[in-house]
Amino acid sequence: MKLVVLKFGGTSVADVPQIKKIALKIKAEVKKDNKVIAVVSAMSGVTNNLIDQVKKTSENFSYSEYDTVVSSGEQVTSALLAIALEELSIKARSWLGWQVPIFTDDIYGKAVIKNIETENISKSLENGFVAIVSGFQGVSNNNRITTLGRGGSDTSAVALAAAFSADRCDIFTDVDGVYTTDPRIVKDAKKLDYVTYEEMLELASQGAKVLQTRSVALAMKYSINLRVLSSFEDLPGTFIIKEGHSMEKFEISGIAHSLNEAKITISGVPDRPGQAAEVFGALADSSINVDMIVQSSPINHESTDITFTIQETDLLEAEEIIKSIQRNIGFRKFTSETNVVKISVIGNAMRTQSGMAKTMFETLAKNQINIHVISTSEIKISVLISSDYYELAMRSLHTAFGLDK
Ligand code: ADP
Ligand code: ASP
Ligand code: MG
Repeated sequence: MKLVVLKFGGTSVADVPQIKKIALKIKAEVKKDNKVIAVVSAMSGVTNNLIDQVKKTSENFSYSEYDTVVSSGEQVTSALLAIALEELSIKARSWLGWQVPIFTDDIYGKAVIKNIETENISKSLENGFVAIVSGFQGVSNNNRITTLGRGGSDTSAVALAAAFSADRCDIFTDVDGVYTTDPRIVKDAKKLDYVTYEEMLELASQGAKVLQTRSVALAMKYSINLRVLSSFEDLPGTFIIKEGHSMEKFEISGIAHSLNEAKITISGVPDRPGQAAEVFGALADSSINVDMIVQSSPINHESTDITFTIQETDLLEAEEIIKSIQRNIGFRKFTSETNVVKISVIGNAMRTQSGMAKTMFETLAKNQINIHVISTSEIKISVLISSDYYELAMRSLHTAFGLDK
């Protein structure tokens, strides 16, 4: 008897007919004598709608109440799926995050899982029930509901697979696997049969939202047998595997884009030691991750400009923090912009071939696409560009790097 974790994303549980189809898929696993833990997202569009409602209610909401609101979509789908299974004469019960319980820290809105207690669900599985867990949810040590950040149901699924030592963790979604880039934007994107944890981690962290980044890191840490596959078609999907097993080794593994970006420029920062530390220290104290950074060198040795990017979802909070340190630092002003997208070309070729940056910048130049910020690492080059041109940038880079089918 195997234990499998099956995760169904928003489009896979978009309405009742769809939930009934998923119930049939789970029934097939049960008939194979497998124990099943299913993890569900909210119906597609529901989480966005709940976030809008919070923002319409107040600009200054508490993130703890925010989590209580936005986690509710998953409550509905988990219980509907349990009902759909009972309808097929399969024993099932829903589990909210706090009922499992899935303990997290208290960074509401992007909580981190501390530990998962397996006793309750194990007993239920022993008694022949399918466990349907609401994804995205946890509970803090203050006994309040937390959520794991956008796309967090992937992390719920992988964490449960690790806690229960599952034989495999299947992520069912609306595409049939991981591609060289977002197949909804670049029609020539190539489906990968295998991708290594490292490549997937890099793709996800640069915006390929098919898997939440944290879920990939967790899968790598616990060597989880992870697969991404279609909810709608019976196809093998993409296996996420260890380095060395890769059957398809691309020099460039893919191109990712992130729409959830905001650019902040702080102008007229006095040119003396400690200023960058003050700005980024204050942001870090509020768990705001800074990504790309450029500081211009001052011509007059008096003041500099610092430009950096953060997640757009952190912008309101970041603006408040920067306002609060303006007097202390004595900078002139700051501006922010959200009409920007980060495009990243990812792959091992970056390590060995110096022409990669040249190809990237020439391709963008040929298409008249202006670059705001550049950052590089050992295996990727990222550029921040205007959101008006991101689809053009992705298509032309996909071709320029020889990734088209
Ligand atoms: P779910 O609701 O099932 O969690 P998501 O919308 O979070 O689904 O993730 C699936 C989407 O990820 C796809 O519809 C696709 O547009 C997008 N995506 C971005 N990059 C990639 C990629 N490299 N491979 C596959 N899908 C990708
Ligand atoms: N429903 C949540 C979201 O839309 C979590 C998830 O789907 O993974 O972000
Ligand atoms: Mg998702």
